[in-house]
Amino acid sequence: MEIYDIITKKKQGLALSREEIQFLIDGYMSGEIADYQMSALTMAICLKGMDKLETLYLTEAMLNSGDTVDLSRFGKLSVDKHSTGGVGDKTTLIVAPIVASLGCKVAKMSGRGLGFTGGTVDKLESLDGYRVTLSGDEFMSQVDKINISVVGQSGNLAPADKKLYALRDVTATVDSIPLIASSIMSKKLASGAESIVLDVKCGSGAFMKTKDEAVSLAKAMIDIGKGFGRGVVALVTNMDAPLGYMVGNRLEVWEAIQVLLGKGEERLTELCIELASNMAMLSLGIGLDRAREMVKKSVSSGSALDKMAEWIGYQGGDVSFIHHPEKLLSAKESQGYLAERDGYITGINAEEIGRASACLGAGRAKLGDEIDFTAGIILKKSYGDYVKRGDVLAIMQSSTRPFTDCARHLSNAFTISDIKPQPIEIILETV
Ligand code: URA
Repeated sequence: MEIYDIITKKKQGLALSREEIQFLIDGYMSGEIADYQMSALTMAICLKGMDKLETLYLTEAMLNSGDTVDLSRFGKLSVDKHSTGGVGDKTTLIVAPIVASLGCKVAKMSGRGLGFTGGTVDKLESLDGYRVTLSGDEFMSQVDKINISVVGQSGNLAPADKKLYALRDVTATVDSIPLIASSIMSKKLASGAESIVLDVKCGSGAFMKTKDEAVSLAKAMIDIGKGFGRGVVALVTNMDAPLGYMVGNRLEVWEAIQVLLGKGEERLTELCIELASNMAMLSLGIGLDRAREMVKKSVSSGSALDKMAEWIGYQGGDVSFIHHPEKLLSAKESQGYLAERDGYITGINAEEIGRASACLGAGRAKLGDEIDFTAGIILKKSYGDYVKRGDVLAIMQSSTRPFTDCARHLSNAFTISDIKPQPIEIILETV
């Protein structure tokens, strides 16, 4: 087999065989296939696409390129959730303890934030003492005992994806549905859960800008999951505005606690109830209506919040943050950002809000940068609200940075106009 012939075949729009795809991934990992050859191929895939079987074979080859986590001891109960990246997305902090309180097994690896998106691991680390690294035995035995553990990514899961994604990132070949679907699913499948609920974002703060693209991505990921015998549901959700009011690490933990107290922002709460209900449905093998009832009861009875406290404490985190969430609102400096004119808020660009928050110290420009856990943005107004010039639209908070750059991003983020916009639905489609 020759790489030249495989590139030519894809350039002509022909489907690659399982053997050819395995040859590509093996050769790329061993160094026999060079970056320039692989980037020619990924560009051909971007332009010509891949069919369902090719996408499945690519996922399989990347999944088998490294370690996999064995969660078989939890039978059908292991469940995972993946979001395709967002701003202010604290849903894992909410849905994981909810479903764990219902008996589902959440053995989850989460990522760190980079650029304008936040990461669950950083949010958890903002609780003093929380251990994001556990040994394999500690991780498993915690899930055995209390149904939940969330750690940082460790081990060598899908290294072929890591190498390929880094190449795609610098060769303008990220935006291909089969490449994104196989990239995400190779990592999810390697993490071992029997059931997976996907939150596929679309809108200004997401990879997929339109609903149609997001639905196609969701379908491609579901096909892969099914091909590997896993239960998968995808919610296509709106990322035209950040999720909830808080963006920034401790601020988002505070907001997650508000949802578990039954006092969360409406759209965020609705999304979390739906994600958790779908997770419980798949993992417990029950109907969606029954799962929804159980999820709502877990929140209203306080058992989800108790589970969160148990989980954080078990993993070494300071539980007083959960019992006294006001401690999470501790930035040294804050300043309001004011509306420049009267009108309706017709857009809150999630990416700009994410950048504004990162400027305050809440995010990283590059891997390894230190984070100010107290920093972030508190949105005081929502999409569709009517505001007057001089009203506070957002509060900038930081213990380490000035507010000037942040204000520039905020001014790009808000669109105010005279016409009242249509309300936005948070859940656009369930696939
Ligand atoms: N996230 C991933 O993990 N992979 C992609 O290709 C795009 C987003």
